[in-house]
Amino acid sequence: MANDRQLKQDEQERFRKILLSLRARLQGDVDQMTDEALNRGGDAGNGNLSSMPIHMADLGTDNFDQEFTLGLIENEQETLDEIEAALVRLADGGFGRCGDCEKPIAKARLQALPYTRYCIECARAHENRVALG
Ligand SMILES: [Zn+2]
Repeated sequence: MANDRQLKQDEQERFRKILLSLRARLQGDVDQMTDEALNRGGDAGNGNLSSMPIHMADLGTDNFDQEFTLGLIENEQETLDEIEAALVRLADGGFGRCGDCEKPIAKARLQALPYTRYCIECARAHENRVALG
């Protein structure tokens, strides 16, 4: 196999375990929050989050909490998608390398954000691009 991998086998294994436990935790959170949000939605519960009606006039405290929870679920779902992608990269040897400039991602950054796909420079560039629209 290629010998240009930046992470040793045991390091990759460690990141895989971190990602798997992170995924399990987030998945549990999402399931629980989805249940709570939907159960509070009363007769709107057809299981489809995007069809949840929003009427500003009816927006009481309970509904506000519900919207807030749904926002959290959305964020966690995005994180889950990133974790899945990181696990795929671990399997195919691309993990730990920036998806943009293909330089190795600093290990400290991987430890803080194991599912990141960009090095710090590229991540900043992306943020700037988003900020500029
Ligand atoms: Zn980069």
